[in-house]
Amino acid sequence: MTRTVYVNGEYLPETEAKVSIFDRGFLFADAVYEVTSVLDGKLIDFDGHAVRLQRSLDELEMASPCSKEDLLEVHRKLVELNGIDEGLIYLQVTRGSDGDRDFVFPSEDTPPSLVLFTQNKPGLADSPAAKKGAKVISIEDIRWGRRDIKTVQLLYPSMGKMMAKKAGCDDAWLVEDGYVTEGTSNNAYFVKNGTIVTRPLSNDILHGITRKAVLRMAQEAQMKIEERLFTIEEAQGADEAFTTSASAFVMPVIEIDGVQLGDGTPGPIARRLREIYLEESRNAAV
Ligand code: PLP
Repeated sequence: MTRTVYVNGEYLPETEAKVSIFDRGFLFADAVYEVTSVLDGKLIDFDGHAVRLQRSLDELEMASPCSKEDLLEVHRKLVELNGIDEGLIYLQVTRGSDGDRDFVFPSEDTPPSLVLFTQNKPGLADSPAAKKGAKVISIEDIRWGRRDIKTVQLLYPSMGKMMAKKAGCDDAWLVEDGYVTEGTSNNAYFVKNGTIVTRPLSNDILHGITRKAVLRMAQEAQMKIEERLFTIEEAQGADEAFTTSASAFVMPVIEIDGVQLGDGTPGPIARRLREIYLEESRNAAV
C-alpha cells in the first residue's frame, strides 16, 4: 500500500514526495529528527518529542518549521490518512537548501525542510522480541560529542547494529573511556539488588523521552534509581538489564557480550516497567 507522507506543507503519495538533492540533510546530515510511537491510533508523549525537537533545533541554530500545534495536527492527520493503529511517525527537519553545496550555512531566510512519514507496526506493544529479551554486544563509542542533539548522523549506530547482527545478537551498547554511554538507538540500564542503574544525562547521551517517563514511573513505584557511570563488567554481573526507546518502549536485555544475565529470560523489573509504561502511556496518549 502506498503511504501518504508529508513534505513541506503537502500530503502526497510516497512515490511523489520530493526533496532537493542540495538539501543539507542529504549532503551534510544537517538535520534533526524525532520518532513518536502510535498506540490505539494515538500519539505517545507527543509533548516530550516536541520539546526535544525544539531543543535540538535551538542547539543547532536551525529555524523551526512550524508551531507545536501545527506539528500535532500533521502527526494526527498522517495517522488518520494512513490508518495507523500501532506504529511510528518519523519526523525530520533539515536546514533546507539554497540550491548548491557549501559548508557555510545557507542564509537565514532559507526555509527548513520538514518531512514526516508513518511506519505501520501492528503488534508493536505486544512484541515477541520483548518477551524473549535482547542479546547485546559492546562496541567502542566513536560518535561525535553532542549526542544530546538528535541529529540524523546515524551511520555509526547503524554499523553497530550490523556488528551485533553479525555476532548473532540484537543490538550493541556503546562504551567510552570504559563506561557504557547508551545503546545504538536506546538508553541502557541494569538492575542489581533491586536498584536500577543508568548513566546520568549529559552531552554524552541522548536525553531519551522514554528514559524520562520510565524513571518517573519507577520512582512512583518506589523503585530505587542510581544515575551514575557503569561498566560492561558491572552490567554483566547484574540481575537483569534493559533498554528504553520510543519505538521499543522497555526492552529487556538477557545477554551482554555472551554473558547471560540471571536465568536468561526478561527480568521482573524490566517486565513490570514495560507494563507500567505501556499502560500509563496509552492513558496519556493524545
Ligand atoms: N539513545 C539514542 C542514541 C537513540 O537514538 C534513542 C532513540 O532513538 C534513544 C537513546 C532513546 O530515546 P527516546 O526514548 O526518546 O526514543
